[in-house]
Amino acid sequence: MAKAVFLDRDETLNPDPGYISDPDHFSLYPWVPAGLKRLKEAGYLLVVVSNQSGVGRGWIEPAALEKIHAKLDRLLQEAEGIRMDAYSICPHRPEDGCICRKPKPELLLRAARSLGAELSQSFMIGDRQSDYEAGLAAGVKKSYLIRPGDESSFKEAIREISEIGSN
Ligand SMILES: [Zn+2]
Repeated sequence: MAKAVFLDRDETLNPDPGYISDPDHFSLYPWVPAGLKRLKEAGYLLVVVSNQSGVGRGWIEPAALEKIHAKLDRLLQEAEGIRMDAYSICPHRPEDGCICRKPKPELLLRAARSLGAELSQSFMIGDRQSDYEAGLAAGVKKSYLIRPGDESSFKEAIREISEIGSN
């Protein structure tokens, strides 16, 4: 059965100036492509799970969000020849009371269902408590709370996950 690593986006994979609405303002942290390549090599699907309430607020056009994720994939492709396997996004505002906004596990559950990934063999990496809790609530093997924009805690999570995956 497939296994996945669920990845928060902003401040886990990329710097976040706040409600990025333009692909030109999007870049990956330099250590991210090689880390994700390592996960792919260990047999994991890669899934972005992200709250993007700027969409629900009308500050981010859905088409712009797609372009941003196309750029994310292009950057990964150029650097390491890989891309994300799925994007699972909550576009709602907190006050909408939706079923998918992290810390709810729905974004992970949805992606796991569509990819056929076994949650108990999967992992979550994010920089916020809501990421950590979403991972636990989804029933992943381990949920990693890293420091925002931090290379060493990101790499440590990658190392541990890729070692478990290769065993
Ligand atoms: Zn939602």
